[in-house]
Amino acid sequence: MKNPVGLKFRISKFFLISLIISLVLLVISSIYAGYLLKISLNYSHVINLSGKIRGDIQRFTKLYFANVSNNKLKSTALEIDNYIFHLKKDINNLNLPLIDTKNFLTPLEIEKCWNTLKGEVFKCSQPYCRTQILNLSEECWVKADKITDLYQKISQRNLRILQFFYYLIIVLGGIVNLSLLYLLIVKNTFGKLLRKAHFDALTGVYNRSALCEIYPLLIKSEYLKPIGLIVFDIDNFKKINDTYGHLVGDIVLKKVSEVVKKHLRRNDIFARWGGEEFLILLPQTDLEGSLKVAEKLRKAIEELNIPELKGRKVTASFGITVIKNSETLNEAVLRADEALYEAKRNGKNQVKFKV
Ligand code: GH3
Ligand code: MG
Ligand code: MG
Repeated sequence: MKNPVGLKFRISKFFLISLIISLVLLVISSIYAGYLLKISLNYSHVINLSGKIRGDIQRFTKLYFANVSNNKLKSTALEIDNYIFHLKKDINNLNLPLIDTKNFLTPLEIEKCWNTLKGEVFKCSQPYCRTQILNLSEECWVKADKITDLYQKISQRNLRILQFFYYLIIVLGGIVNLSLLYLLIVKNTFGKLLRKAHFDALTGVYNRSALCEIYPLLIKSEYLKPIGLIVFDIDNFKKINDTYGHLVGDIVLKKVSEVVKKHLRRNDIFARWGGEEFLILLPQTDLEGSLKVAEKLRKAIEELNIPELKGRKVTASFGITVIKNSETLNEAVLRADEALYEAKRNGKNQVKFKV
């Protein structure tokens, strides 16, 4: 059954806006962190290459001074050429910054320096060019070192930013998760409270206080008039309790409400008024219609077969009236009750009305 009085679970605007902002920030941070992670991987690749170039230029010079064969020198030179080629390609492909603006250093500078060194080595034999080769080698090493250093610094800066975003994502993720959990718990508790406050625990139909809240809302609408009122009370219920016990009495109450619910329309309002007395409000139903409904319910209850009662039948007596303009619920119930007592006095298991 729906919430009878239109009470709604409302989240505060501030809470909702904070949750949405946290969610948006979380998504943006995650995307940005992913981007930074990818860039950092690119940097580590380039750092590795420029480190190899730096080391191999030194190695090349050492081999030269060790008077190794020209072939060995050539193969090492080829290796360095290859590294430089890949370094330039990677920097280009990965869209990494090319220069150390302070020193105007680019991989092209290393290439230039390396080509000069290589040219001198293969052109000039020892010991004539010793100092020149040594100076050139040192110059190339410094350049390669600066390039390595540059990318290392940028990479470290990226990693620090990434670390910041990592913590931010943890915090935002925590906020979003806790907020959603909070919403779920509060909504659940609210739903439970609402059900407890408006529905009868045993039968699941509206309770008296819910009906008192619904009534003024109902009679406000001209469209819903006339409104029929049925009050019914299970006959000899005390005897059922005394004979079969209270638990069986409870089962009877449940079964009776179930069968009544089944025979009512969606817009009819069915409530437990107290004990074994029930009340039904029938929108857009006049006296004649209400009498028909009551008679249908009376028969349905009479035809109920409750195994716990071992063949004994349950019956109920009905009092009917139609709500008058601007009267209170109690006034209307009083009139229907009078009809109900007449039905009881008259032998029970019957429908009476009072206008
Ligand atoms: P009548 O035909 O005149 O209505 O007689 P009755 O015995 O049904 O009426 P009475 O008002 O004397 O008894 C109603 C009984 O309903 C008394 C009470 O113990 C029992 N009762 C009220 N609420 C509950 C409930 O929730 N469960 C059970 N098992 N019994 C209830
Ligand atoms: Mg009774
Ligand atoms: Mg009673």
